[in-house]
Amino acid sequence: VCPVGALTELDHTNRLIKDLADPDKTVIVQTAPAVRAALGEEFALPAGTSVTGKMVAALRKLGFAKVFDTDFAADLTIMEEGTELLGRLGAFLNGDKSVKLPIITSCCPGWVNFFEKQFPDLLDMPSSARSPQQMFGSIAKTYWAEKMGIKRENLIVVSVMPCLAKKFECERDEFKTNGDPDVNYSISTRELAALIKQTNINFMQLEDEDFDAPLGESTGAAVIFGATGGVMEAALRTAYEIHTGKTLDNVNFEGVRGIENLKEATIDVDGFELKVAVAHGLGNARKLMNEIRAGKSKYHAIEIMACPGGCIGGGGQPLHHGDSSLLKARTRALYTEDSEKSLRKSHQNPYIISLYEEFLGKPMSERAHHLLHTCYFNRGKEIIEQ
Ligand code: SF4
Repeated sequence: VCPVGALTELDHTNRLIKDLADPDKTVIVQTAPAVRAALGEEFALPAGTSVTGKMVAALRKLGFAKVFDTDFAADLTIMEEGTELLGRLGAFLNGDKSVKLPIITSCCPGWVNFFEKQFPDLLDMPSSARSPQQMFGSIAKTYWAEKMGIKRENLIVVSVMPCLAKKFECERDEFKTNGDPDVNYSISTRELAALIKQTNINFMQLEDEDFDAPLGESTGAAVIFGATGGVMEAALRTAYEIHTGKTLDNVNFEGVRGIENLKEATIDVDGFELKVAVAHGLGNARKLMNEIRAGKSKYHAIEIMACPGGCIGGGGQPLHHGDSSLLKARTRALYTEDSEKSLRKSHQNPYIISLYEEFLGKPMSERAHHLLHTCYFNRGKEIIEQ
């Protein structure tokens, strides 16, 4: 079985066209950070050209009622995952033997599929935080739908993802309410490009447009989710400030950046040496997981992404054939967008602050737990039965 779903690609374009034409449906879209860094290649732009504004304009022309950003939910993921990290770390250091470390990121469904099948004995290691795609869907169909007075059955949430495993993630039962998926379906970067071409939208002539508020606002920390090391860096920016109460002047954690297979860094958090590791590609992930299984891991937190370079190299992106210069160019586009943002730490996102004040309470609250967290299943049996 292909862990990232690349061999079972489902094309949802026709379904989307039908939904967009249905007057009874409100169809909204979220776009993952890696999409904007690669979509331009489908229109002959050089790799690494960020086309965020044109992409938003094209999605509006296609007929979406609102164009939102998965980056909003990436900031939310950091609030939940960072709080979980600090909670687990604090309990561990206080001698609570029931708490497991390292905490491992869980926002990549290719990686989730892999560890559920290959490491079912370690299901309590990954963070329980849902992926940004699923957090977005959950908040859109509760908080936002209520605010807008839209009935859940009339709201269609679509995602544009660099990823084919995200299509499977939408269909998982854990992410449905009374059978209705929080995210109805996902289309890939390539499918979006094809749709723009089929509908004769002149992409290159489009004026830049902004995402809609409130689910379209994000910080630089969320943008870098699309590159290997980005989730870890975003988590460090927030966890450091929340734990120490001090301002982090330099938010660039260079030690976790770059496309080396395995990266590690030690971060001084008020005198405590926090050891972190970052891996992309499932072969590299397996090495780290085998260390954990053998009780030899020295890390407190690990980020894992299934695809080369992280989501910028995802299976739904314009084909890259493993060309590292292309992956580096896409990565640069994301770090440039991060550096140009006025807010670069997830906990500074004013719309995330409002979401907690108005609806969720606080990170890891009962409601947050219900809407934004998940659990994992032993799928190792499926391999044995195949
Ligand atoms: Fe999908 Fe990104 Fe994971 Fe690849 S790294 S499987 S694109 S979430």
